[in-house]
Amino acid sequence: MDDVDERSTNGDARGTTHETEIKTNVSRGISRVRALGRAIARTTTTTTTTPGVREKREAATRAIERAMDLDSMELSDGRDGVASKDMVVTKPKDIDDADFANYFCTYGYLYHQKDMLEDQSRMTAYHNAVRLNADSFRGKVVLDVGTGSGVLAMWAAQAGAKKVYAVEATHMAVQARKIVEANGLSDVVEVIQCKVEELELPEKVDVIISEWMGYFLLRESMFDSVLVARDKWMKPGGAMFPSHAKMYLSAIKTNKTEQKKQELDESLNVWDEFVANTSNNYGIDLSCMNGEFEDEQREHYLNCSAWCDIHPTQLLCAKPFTLASFDLNKCTKADIAMLRDVDFKLTLFERNSSASGEEVRAGAFAGWFDVTFAGSEANPCENVVELTTAPDANGATHWGQQAFYIHPEIRPSDGAVIAGKFDMLRRKENQRLYSVRMNWTQSTKEGKRNDSMGQRGIVWHIE
Ligand code: SAH
Repeated sequence: MDDVDERSTNGDARGTTHETEIKTNVSRGISRVRALGRAIARTTTTTTTTPGVREKREAATRAIERAMDLDSMELSDGRDGVASKDMVVTKPKDIDDADFANYFCTYGYLYHQKDMLEDQSRMTAYHNAVRLNADSFRGKVVLDVGTGSGVLAMWAAQAGAKKVYAVEATHMAVQARKIVEANGLSDVVEVIQCKVEELELPEKVDVIISEWMGYFLLRESMFDSVLVARDKWMKPGGAMFPSHAKMYLSAIKTNKTEQKKQELDESLNVWDEFVANTSNNYGIDLSCMNGEFEDEQREHYLNCSAWCDIHPTQLLCAKPFTLASFDLNKCTKADIAMLRDVDFKLTLFERNSSASGEEVRAGAFAGWFDVTFAGSEANPCENVVELTTAPDANGATHWGQQAFYIHPEIRPSDGAVIAGKFDMLRRKENQRLYSVRMNWTQSTKEGKRNDSMGQRGIVWHIE
């Protein structure tokens, strides 16, 4: 199986269900909530719904509705609101309404924490990072930023930490406290419910452990919060777990691009019919909106990146390009918040598909990341552990990879060397979401630029 579409909708070989996207009609708008992993409610349209996600969808919808409507809710007998203790997940006071609705609310649900706890690659890497480097934890003071269910904090305690502060902004802190207690670790692990930005501790810490990574590493922008914690609470020479991160880019073959283009064309045909009918039936001419509708639909079908589970045989470059490398012990918010003007270069395989003899084209760029647990210069890890989200024949982690569709597709015969600039910037309307921009030209391996292709540029939103 070597197609993005099949793998991205059917789940991976590890038995995790990878629902692509779920629709939620929330208040007046339509929000999209990713079923799996790093959920952020969004404000754009959606295409795919996978069976079996109803419960998650309903839970997410309820949480968002609650966040939006609770304050204004009045009971029929005139009493104000609904007691928040009646709700499974409530909005903590220190989280602002929009950030709760767009980001935090889903983390308050066990179903969502479970999705992360079921990701074997993630779990094994973090568990090994702690367990195989017990010296980094024994007798130490540890801070777990965004403890969720408390799993990382408990591993730190099991490795011999003297004290673990486990900070969680959402209601999940209440559950984490129970889990810590049930595992007999409450004498070491102290669960504190607050945003880490508001945290007050009686002492500084030796180690900060956190699982903050979003799609394509940066989405969710949670590392901002980890940095606040590091700069305020880490002792000099302390170690970050993970300590390093890298982002990669490659090009892939996929039939999804052509499919998306066909869906776009169909949608525009339906629009034309709709405009004609509206004019005939109601005497209103909407054809002045043709351009606007096309822009809107093009953005939806071709300019939104997508979660995918790429099989290594789809890769069209011998080596991925390293877009960024971060030393998490030292980097600043400016280093990690965005990537600007990164010069990238990819060299495509020049080969024909054996079946049809047709040239294999690049239908998408693909991005992924890895993180490394190596400790710090002052406190290096004895056993360096890596967590990668690279394309894997055995299936993806819950982060998958991001596909950035290219229409028209790139033909290696027009120049197998793709070189240009890459930017990844935060979205103005939601700082936890990103857009990617790439401008590139094609050249031969001998360095001869193909001017007939000109310079191409595409902007994608990471949804
Ligand atoms: N550590 C857990 C959960 C990781 S998910 C695990 O590895 O399984 C990230 C968690 O961080 C979520 O539960 C989220 O609510 C929490 N979080 C995100 N930003 C936070 C912040 N600023 N302060 C406290 N918790 C935060």
